[in-house]
Amino acid sequence: MTRLVMKFGGTSMADLERIRRAARLVAAEADAGHQVAVVVSAMAGKTNELVAWTDGAGAPTGQVNAGDDEYDVVVASGEQVTAGLLAMTLRNMGYKARSMTGWQVPIITSEAHGKARIVDIPSDNLDKAFDDGYIVVVPGFQGVTPQGKITTLGRGGSDTSAVAVAIAAKAVRCDIYTDVDGVYTTDPRVESKAKRLKKIAFEEMLEMASLGAKVLQTRSVELAMGHRMPIRVLSSFVEPGENVDNGTIVCDEDEIVEKHIVSGVAFSRDEAKITLLGLPNKIGVSAAVFAKLAAANINVDMIVQSEKRSGDYANQLFTVSRRDAKAAADIMLGAKDEIGFDDIKVDDNVAKVSIVGVGMRSHTGVAQTMFTALSEKGINIQVISTSEIKISVLIDEAYTELAVRALHAAYGLDQIGA
Ligand code: ASP
Ligand code: MG
Repeated sequence: MTRLVMKFGGTSMADLERIRRAARLVAAEADAGHQVAVVVSAMAGKTNELVAWTDGAGAPTGQVNAGDDEYDVVVASGEQVTAGLLAMTLRNMGYKARSMTGWQVPIITSEAHGKARIVDIPSDNLDKAFDDGYIVVVPGFQGVTPQGKITTLGRGGSDTSAVAVAIAAKAVRCDIYTDVDGVYTTDPRVESKAKRLKKIAFEEMLEMASLGAKVLQTRSVELAMGHRMPIRVLSSFVEPGENVDNGTIVCDEDEIVEKHIVSGVAFSRDEAKITLLGLPNKIGVSAAVFAKLAAANINVDMIVQSEKRSGDYANQLFTVSRRDAKAAADIMLGAKDEIGFDDIKVDDNVAKVSIVGVGMRSHTGVAQTMFTALSEKGINIQVISTSEIKISVLIDEAYTELAVRALHAAYGLDQIGA
């Protein structure tokens, strides 16, 4: 018998009717001969409500309780409700089902409450439940420390729970049921010609997820990639047997026959650009700038340094997320004399647009196509950064949608068959 993990997100667990639909999808896989473990999220909105309660009960207004061990006791409860309800529903349909909480499995995590990492999932209990003929329903998002304290994995963490359970159970695949029917070449709200991808490579999905495509939690993709656990993202808003071709498979690059040079166009408006003008061009200056940002926990994304035409000064610019822009600028201003720059500029009317594709590794001219497409639309590129499978540009925010559509067309993504 092959094992399958199925994960249902909050919108797929939002009420009893949806839980029944999920149960029908689970039952169909069990009928098809799979041993099934299901991982569930809390009902949509539930975790936010629980988090708000912990704020009210514990910390002074505005202070987040993540990091507190009792925070985890409270917010982990949302998933326990849906796990129990789904197991009950399956039983009422005549299936042998049981829930297994994070501490019963057990899903052993680090002690970082509110953002714990999974360290081990011994499979003995899961194996036993499968051998006894159960469909096992595991609440996502929760785990337990080696000392027996409840933990949670950070928001969106049940995707990671699902992949981890799939790895522990040696499942053939982890099916993630959600409110969209797959991964698209870009956001269909921006480009109506966006196409669903049949397959996408782990690395591409990882880039897309960290660039803000919110289908999967980034950490779950990292984990799946490390263990080569294929993920299928698909819609839960269907009945069993309906629309069987729905979904996107996230898998190893080698398994993708029909490769695209560029698989997706991602964008983020959560960007701010900070420019330091007239920075002394000497050893240790960058280290000083970025040490200060790191000490304040500010994440820096793009970095560019250029030399002045004359004199021993450079200009340096970097991007941070918008909510960090003011703090970053204040830190820099506070260290102006120490670092020795002349002036600072902050611009948060910028957006980052990126193209992602493993095909870039083996094709030339990919960057040139991007820059040409943007210039033809009169879009000025402010910053460029690249990785092996990604090119990102920073542009004026007003042109975001135009840029996304131009790039989507330039790489033929409008044309691909889903
Ligand atoms: N319920 C948790 C959250 O809303 C975990 C998850 O759904 O992935 O963040
Ligand atoms: Mg989610």
